[in-house]
Amino acid sequence: MSDCIFCKIAKKEIPAEIVWEDENFIAFSDINPLSKGHTLIIPKKHFRWVWDVENIGNYFEKVREVKKILDEKYQPVFVELKVLGIDVPHAHVHLVPHY
Ligand code: AMP
Ligand code: ZN
Repeated sequence: MSDCIFCKIAKKEIPAEIVWEDENFIAFSDINPLSKGHTLIIPKKHFRWVWDVENIGNYFEKVREVKKILDEKYQPVFVELKVLGIDVPHAHVHLVPHY
């Protein structure tokens, strides 16, 4: 989707603070963080909802990898997993560290 902001981040057409990436997924800092280290993980390919992501199990394995990076970097008490997807119509998962 050419006008999708998260597709643009995935293609590095607009800047983001990248936390982690591989061939199929990218994690970056939320622009309006709810806490220090608030991170979004998206598939690089456009899907409207998390429910639509091909191989959703693999997606959530990657989400857990990013959660471990946040644990090491910020040492939160726990990391909240949040899935909304109302404001940006590209599948994404929020990781929100709590202190
Ligand atoms: P939601 O669709 O309700 O899950 O919320 C979308 C999230 O994306 C919000 O937390 C926004 O702060 C975040 N967001 C929107 N645009 C950007 C951007 N360009 N870079 C990083 N985060 C963004
Ligand atoms: Zn998109």
